[in-house]
Amino acid sequence: MKIAFAKIGSEPLNISHEYEGISFKGTLKRKNAEQVLASGELSGVLKHFCDSCGEPLEISINESLELSLNDGATSAPDLDIVEFYDGFIDLDELINSEIESIKSDYFYCKNCKTN
Ligand SMILES: [Zn+2]
Repeated sequence: MKIAFAKIGSEPLNISHEYEGISFKGTLKRKNAEQVLASGELSGVLKHFCDSCGEPLEISINESLELSLNDGATSAPDLDIVEFYDGFIDLDELINSEIESIKSDYFYCKNCKTN
């Protein structure tokens, strides 16, 4: 789902969107001329693999999310800023970037944890 930056005003817009089993429920709200603030909860179960033996495992996600979405390239790069270049906020991409950052951690299955 894509939402035009131009449509986001100072009144929070309620969002509920799911991508690959992970759902984002929260709001989009105008922060300044360039940025929209996304805040809410990310929850669901992420399918992943043990970093030691490769066994499939599931990661339960339940965390709050607060990100600035920038309309175009930002002049002040920051880890909490996501840039979109076509004037639209892509919610799939937003959730996917969070999934990727969660997956960049290490996860171990029950067997490998106890060894
Ligand atoms: Zn393992």
